[in-house]
Amino acid sequence: MVNPPNRHDPELEPFWDGTEKDELRVQRCSACGAVRWPPRPACFRCGGLEVGWVPAAGCGELYSWTVVARSTLPDFADQVPYVVGVVALEGLPVRVIGRVETDDPWGLQVGIPVTVAFRDHASGVRLPVWLPRARPVGGATGPERRAM
Ligand SMILES: [Zn+2]
Repeated sequence: MVNPPNRHDPELEPFWDGTEKDELRVQRCSACGAVRWPPRPACFRCGGLEVGWVPAAGCGELYSWTVVARSTLPDFADQVPYVVGVVALEGLPVRVIGRVETDDPWGLQVGIPVTVAFRDHASGVRLPVWLPRARPVGGATGPERRAM
């Protein structure tokens, strides 16, 4: 396994606590309210060190992406082609990077709506992934859940 995420890294533990509940979270400065991603120890706006976490809507628009056609990482070699995308979150001024699951990696377009889903990873964390919204997402009971 290549660099598995540390589920108990204190800077990211609230994020992983959220994914365990199928909730995507981002940091928010407790002093000025600035929302930020990725997590940082200090606020980019006011320098404050107190931080809280807020849930994100779990949807957004595809801002950019790349199709990985040849992976140099053994853990991903059997998964090509796959897509890694940048998603502009709905209602928050941040973008997040994540896997985009699609049957048509060459047919993606800027601005298409995407919805988060969560996948159990062999490292023991639940990773957020992004699904183009046209694709069914797990039925009426909530986000799709399956192992990676
Ligand atoms: Zn701040």
